Amino acid sequence: MTYVSRIKRILVTGGAGFLGSHLCETLVAEGHDVACVDNFFTGNRRNISHLLNQPNFELIRHDITFPLYVEVDEIYNLACPASPVHYQHDPVQTTKTSVHGAINMLGLAKRVRARILQASTSEVYGDPTMHPQSEQYWGHVNPIGPRSCYDEGKRCAETLFFDYHRQHRLRIKVARIFNTYGPRMHPNDGRVVSNFVVQALQGEPITIYGDGLQTRSFCYVDDLIGGLRGLMNTDDSVVGPVNFGNPVESTMRQLAEAVISVTGSISRIEFKALPQDDPKQRCPDISRAKDIIGWQPRVELMDGLRKTAEYFERLLTAGVDLGRR
Ligand code: NAD
Ligand code: UDP
Ligand code: UDP
Repeated sequence: MTYVSRIKRILVTGGAGFLGSHLCETLVAEGHDVACVDNFFTGNRRNISHLLNQPNFELIRHDITFPLYVEVDEIYNLACPASPVHYQHDPVQTTKTSVHGAINMLGLAKRVRARILQASTSEVYGDPTMHPQSEQYWGHVNPIGPRSCYDEGKRCAETLFFDYHRQHRLRIKVARIFNTYGPRMHPNDGRVVSNFVVQALQGEPITIYGDGLQTRSFCYVDDLIGGLRGLMNTDDSVVGPVNFGNPVESTMRQLAEAVISVTGSISRIEFKALPQDDPKQRCPDISRAKDIIGWQPRVELMDGLRKTAEYFERLLTAGVDLGRR
């Protein structure tokens, strides 16, 4: 166990999800008292089952759009469906989770004087006209499209964080997370890495939307969690927003080829229609994270894809229903 000078009571909302479960695991290993709150909309008990018998881990089934009264020192607010398939399934609930959920968690932080970190997103930049995206860029977001429930919900949550900071002197941290991947991604969430890896493992066609020349940058989950921990541990003057992501950009064609190579798959590539408002390019400027906490991603795409493929292979071998779309 890593030495910690002070054991904290830490609340992780969305703790049974992909990123949340890795964060809970790290915090439990550091010896903190961790309360994981989740309504299991996209999260899964499987992600945290190995933590359930730890004395410093507690699972609370709760929807953060409703008030929550617990006593904690720090809050990581991660609860929110993150993939287009899931956040568009019930868009009103997505906005409620982002906005009402943020109000409740900020109200909680205000009452107990806890530090609070928001898992914001590169989607606040929309379909960006500035490249790469730095935190100074205000974004280019459609307020009424199918992605808006998520993009505008997350933008409003950022507004709330900064207003609670200015109005109530709350100690806030806002992290803008770019595409992150790794073990425990939802196999059925339609995100490109999980789709390609599961398709490749099953010998199904790899579905590229549009011409496949759109770009994203992919950060491995362990790197991202290190960034969130680093940001939370900065002194109170650091509020963000801070970009976290991998500045190495790939087209979806390059990603498909990388997945085929890592899995040794026989899958062929199939082109499908591009979803509405799909951003053409996205790449973080991470100079602020580098300056503030010396953070930069370390895991190479091929290594991260290998670990992700091993995870999905284990699920397939165990006969877990991946409920493919
Ligand atoms: P995820 O869907 O795996 O995790 C979200 C978790 O929140 C799930 O466990 C879900 O059940 C829970 N949840 C949803 N609504 C809730 C509610 N109302 N009350 C309580 N729990 C609720 O997604 P993830 O990839 O782990 O994303 C975690 C956070 O990081 C999200 O806020 C997301 O917007 C943000 N983020 C993720 C990425 C990424 O690439 N993974 C990128 C940018 C931002
Ligand atoms: N809240 C919560 N837990 C707490 C304290 C507050 O869930 O421990 C919720 C509360 O229900 C309220 C919201 O947080 O709706 C915002 O709280 P705040 O104190 O900012 O506003 P107010 O209660 O004055 O509306
Ligand atoms: N995408 C794709 N095939 C898939 C799933 C997604 O080509 O099976 C594309 C999608 O259109 C987008 C990119 O991959 O251009 C990243 O999609 P994802 O949903 O993972 O993340 P986001 O669009 O939110 O960055």
